[in-house]
Amino acid sequence: MSHKILIIEDEQKIARFLELELQYEGYIVEKVHDGRSGLERALNHDISLIILDVMLPGINGVEVCRRIRQSSEVPIIMLTAKDSTIDKVMGLDTGADDYITKPFAIEELLARIRVALKHKRVAAQRTSNTIRAKNLCLDLDKYLATYNNEQIDLTKREFDFLRYLMENKNMVLSRAQILEKVWGYSYFGDTNVVDVYIRYLRSKIDDRFKEKFIHTVRGVGYLLKDE
Ligand code: CA
Repeated sequence: MSHKILIIEDEQKIARFLELELQYEGYIVEKVHDGRSGLERALNHDISLIILDVMLPGINGVEVCRRIRQSSEVPIIMLTAKDSTIDKVMGLDTGADDYITKPFAIEELLARIRVALKHKRVAAQRTSNTIRAKNLCLDLDKYLATYNNEQIDLTKREFDFLRYLMENKNMVLSRAQILEKVWGYSYFGDTNVVDVYIRYLRSKIDDRFKEKFIHTVRGVGYLLKDE
């Protein structure tokens, strides 16, 4: 199976050159020319490696890299315009696997791609601890919720509630079930707390990202839809 490489580079000539060289090496190539489209494509699980230019219109490469890292361990090789230490440090601080300075020899880039893909195979054996529903992602190790790599600020209770909904996505959960799992047997407060927290989650997720996840089933309870 061929690896798919995503090129995020606004300079069309460089992007085209890379595309041809990588295709010649047998990789499948996809290229985009700005940070925002790059970020959207990077979330797809079919991407094996990303070549990311630092200087991009809109969201710059450093920021793109930081956001990808919030929910993905895909190898990232950054292209820096000049051989300046600060670019390198910034690139690596944001979680890039490697960087290469323009102008670069294609052989060197190809070698680094092979190294990064080899590391990925090793890393892939560690199972990632995330739950997904469409573009919504929960990282259970980091206690981090994201939508399209944008972080969602949740309290611990909101996170636990969202986790329960996502673990049982497309299933209707009653208030009693939710109370028991999220608040625990010892909770003797008002059962309206479930509805209150549903409102919090809707405003932080459905309303903010204009996508309906949490549905009410009248007289029964709630469900999070992933279809
Ligand atoms: Ca550029």
